Amino acid sequence: MRLVLLGPPGAGKGTQAAGIVEKYKIPHISTGDIFRKNIKEGTELGKKAKDYMDKGLLVPDELVVEIVKDRLTESDCSEGFLLDGFPRTVAQADSLNSELESMEIKLDKVINIDVSKEELIERAVGRRICKDCGATYHIKFNPTKAEGVCDVCGGELYQRDDDNEETVTKRIEVYIDQTQPLIDYYKEKGILADIDGRQSIDKVFSDIVDTLGSVK
Ligand SMILES: [Zn+2]
Repeated sequence: MRLVLLGPPGAGKGTQAAGIVEKYKIPHISTGDIFRKNIKEGTELGKKAKDYMDKGLLVPDELVVEIVKDRLTESDCSEGFLLDGFPRTVAQADSLNSELESMEIKLDKVINIDVSKEELIERAVGRRICKDCGATYHIKFNPTKAEGVCDVCGGELYQRDDDNEETVTKRIEVYIDQTQPLIDYYKEKGILADIDGRQSIDKVFSDIVDTLGSVK
C-alpha cells in the first residue's frame, strides 16, 4: 500500500495518518519528521537542510526529494508507506514519480481530505487552548463545560495569535493555491481519492478504508 495523504491545515490529517499506518502496518513518512531527525543526528542532509532553515528559507525541492528518496529505500518501506507533507508541488510529484519508476513501484492512491475553505476558517477561528495543560477545544464543536475554563485542569483558555480570521484565511488560501494543481495532477493520473473531511473522524476513516479496499 503506497499512499500519499493530502489535506489542508486543520482538516484532521494527523489523526487519519495515525489510523492508516496502524491499520495497514506501513511507516508514516512525514518530511517534517525526517528533517528534524536528520538535523538532530547531524547527517549531511540534515546539515544542508538546517542551513536553509536557519536563514528562514524554504528547503529547495532537490533536497526534499533527496531526503524522501533516501527514506523510501529503507527496508520498512518495502511493503508500502504513507507520505505526509510531500509532495507539495507538481514539480516534487514529478520527481517522486520518476524516483518510484526507477524503483519499479508506483503509488496506489492519493487520499485527499477535502474540507471547504469556510469550514476550515470556522474550525481554526473557534479553537481555544488551555494555558496550563495544552488541551484543545472549540467554542462550537467541542466547548468546555464552563466558558473559558479548561475541563481537565481548570486552567484559562486562550486563542493562538495565528488563529485569527485574517491569518487563517491567508494560510488556507496559500495551501489551496499550492495544492490544487497537485490534486489535479493526481486526478489526471486516476489515483486521487477525495474524502469528505466535514464528517466525523470515524466516518472519514471508514471512507478512507473503503476507498483503499479497491487497491490490489
Ligand atoms: Zn487544562
